[in-house]
Amino acid sequence: MGNDRAWENPEQMLGVDDALARIVAHFTPLPAVETPIVDALGMIVTQDVVATVDVPPFRNSAMDGYAVRHADTRAAPVSLRVVATIAAGRLSRRTVGAGEAIRIMTGAPVPDGADAVIRFEETDEGSRATGARDRISISRPVKPAENVREAGEDVRSGQVVLPVGTRLGPTHIGLLASLNRSTTAVHRRPRVAILSTGDEVVEPGPELLPGQIRNSNSYMLAALVRQAGGEPVLLGVARDTADDLRAKLGAIDSPDMFITSGGVSVGDYDVVKDVLQADGHIDIWQVRMKPGKPLAFGTLAGTPLLGLPGNPVAALVSFEQFGRPAIRRMLGYANLSLPEVDAIVTERLTNVGRRRHFVRGTVERTTDGLIARPNGGSGSAVLTAASRANCFIVVPESCDVVEAGTTLRVQLLDDVTTV
Ligand code: AMP
Ligand code: MG
Repeated sequence: MGNDRAWENPEQMLGVDDALARIVAHFTPLPAVETPIVDALGMIVTQDVVATVDVPPFRNSAMDGYAVRHADTRAAPVSLRVVATIAAGRLSRRTVGAGEAIRIMTGAPVPDGADAVIRFEETDEGSRATGARDRISISRPVKPAENVREAGEDVRSGQVVLPVGTRLGPTHIGLLASLNRSTTAVHRRPRVAILSTGDEVVEPGPELLPGQIRNSNSYMLAALVRQAGGEPVLLGVARDTADDLRAKLGAIDSPDMFITSGGVSVGDYDVVKDVLQADGHIDIWQVRMKPGKPLAFGTLAGTPLLGLPGNPVAALVSFEQFGRPAIRRMLGYANLSLPEVDAIVTERLTNVGRRRHFVRGTVERTTDGLIARPNGGSGSAVLTAASRANCFIVVPESCDVVEAGTTLRVQLLDDVTTV
């Protein structure tokens, strides 16, 4: 830490982008792990997935109708002899000969001899009572291959279906199942150990004594870690002593990352920075942002540690700027930061202190385009206001004032449904 009260001079603080670059440089994608496809949503494949089968595996009908020889229908309307019915999942022993048709259901194998399927709707199917029938009238000429899905039409054996780096979405997972893959190799999820600090901080449960507050950060951070794709492990709350902090951090075997809350400011009992300086390699930074100016980052026995401020909203904003990117880097993502859009701000915003200001707000689509409304409740401890936000409006460090109507960059929080 600077010895000249650098935190009071924004020009000497580390910029948000530089802090992010320094943090992300400590992380690489985690090793591959073969994962059941039902658990692989949002994960990144570590090698090309090559098909070893054709999809669909056989030539089949795309419609409920009649399998015919298209040449027989040239002079339509024509009447053909119905010689069999094929349901999906069944094979026909009969082939389709000249002047013949086989009644066929969607997904059933197209029988030999047939080269097209005509839909029921274009025959006189249904114009008579149901039950076995021996002739069908076809109203128009059928095109070759009409309503026939060829084997391998979707995927050919040998084809690269999912290139390395693909982020698995629902359709990819369905595709893997169709390729007979019940598991797939993806970057492992990071295990992120979360520790809150503070003599005043108490887990949900017992009545609060005077001066105590509830531990909200651990639970919010666990949810944020999970939302980012990591696996949170809660280590509880450490007292503001070096010994307790060491003991609590030591309670987990080799996590991929520690995230702490509290104890990184310049107060008397901010021991996170002391322990990390003594036991590991630590940088304490004053990051040129608001909220979230105090931030610690370093390694402890080789494990990266992100020390967030204790104020809940500051912890939230700092996690989204630095914790989420670290987790996504470990998952193998290329895009690390929150998705961003440009939006017009509805109100004048002032930005004292020349830091990058993350204003909690609500972005919505209007006929004028996207607009972003600050939520009010700007204090860094006001989690209720933050809980109503769906975005952070980013006021640049260079702006003292932003007039209403200005277009600013807006970071979208996950699960934004209004945009
Ligand atoms: P600190 O960064 O330790 O100085 O804490 C800053 C503020 O955040 C203080 O008002 C703390 O009481 C509060 N705080 C610290 N840890 C937590 C937590 N786990 N949950 C909720 N508030 C917290
Ligand atoms: Mg504290």
